[in-house]
Amino acid sequence: MTELLFPTTVEEAVALLAAHEDARPIAGGATLVAMRNAGLVESTHLVSLDRIAGLAGIVRLEDGRIRIGAMTKHAETASCEMLSGSLEVLRKAAGMIANRVVRNMGTMGGSVANADPAADYLPALACCDAVLTIAGPGGTREVSILDYVEDWYETALGEGEIITAFTLPAPYAAASSYRKIARVSGDFATASCAMALEADGQGVRVAIGACGPGPIRDPEAEAALCGHLGDPEAVATFAKALADQADPVDDVRGSAEYRLQLIPRLISGVLNDISKETV
Ligand SMILES: Cc1cc2nc3c(=O)[nH]c(=O)nc-3n(C[C@H](O)[C@H](O)[C@H](O)COP(=O)(O)OP(=O)(O)OC[C@H]3O[C@@H](n4cnc5c(N)ncnc54)[C@H](O)[C@@H]3O)c2cc1C
Repeated sequence: MTELLFPTTVEEAVALLAAHEDARPIAGGATLVAMRNAGLVESTHLVSLDRIAGLAGIVRLEDGRIRIGAMTKHAETASCEMLSGSLEVLRKAAGMIANRVVRNMGTMGGSVANADPAADYLPALACCDAVLTIAGPGGTREVSILDYVEDWYETALGEGEIITAFTLPAPYAAASSYRKIARVSGDFATASCAMALEADGQGVRVAIGACGPGPIRDPEAEAALCGHLGDPEAVATFAKALADQADPVDDVRGSAEYRLQLIPRLISGVLNDISKETV
């Protein structure tokens, strides 16, 4: 028998997770319920984050940054107009997750806690320089999305900790694109790419997903690419720099070799999208 607990504050949730040895947080249950039904996860206590005020929703902070609560559903992120310019890539990625049912059920916190390397949010959040807020028995701390994924399905989340929010820098004028290649529409990515290009062309950010345990970014290669986006040789050099950092696996969604081939294709694809947007 599993007991479902409904704390109303983050502190209470953290205390409940500490009080029961194999307790787990539950968000929308999109993944966790399927895992439990398949016998992959056992838990005597599930700590629902659903009734904690302030964990869901997207707000603009006084300094212009955007804060997304961990319990925000993909559907809300996909339709949030505050995610504009440099942050629009996150909105686009949310809209490509699975199907409407999953987008109405799953949450950003649950997706990122699960840390599936093929999840759409990881490269999009990396492209946006997102910072996670994590609460636990030791208090609250912040972790950048690039430091968060430590290895395959291993993250900076410690025992009894929960993700409470994602903070994004204030949006600025930019064109952005998110592309994923998947076996069928609505599936997790075989490989994916998020890109944001500043309107004045002075900055470009690119993150690759599903080609290693976490999203791949290379700020030095981004700086070298800046101003040369129309030069096929510079783009190829950039794609090679990212592919060199990839650590793809063979799995049901594609071989490691195929994933490496997808990296330059995806980069050309997002560049093409962006050039259409900026014409
Ligand atoms: C059919 C199907 C198709 C899918 N396709 C895609 C896809 O194309 N792209 C994609 O990116 N994703 C996809 N997903 C995953 C989906 O995005 C889910 O939102 C995501 O896996 C998490 O679901 P959830 O928020 O309901 O979390 P839950 O299922 O409730 O929890 C997932 C895990 O995270 C933990 N957890 C939840 N919230 C927190 C928190 N705030 N802090 C710490 N730990 C937490 C739970 O303990 C559990 O281990 C798919 C899922 C399904 C079922």
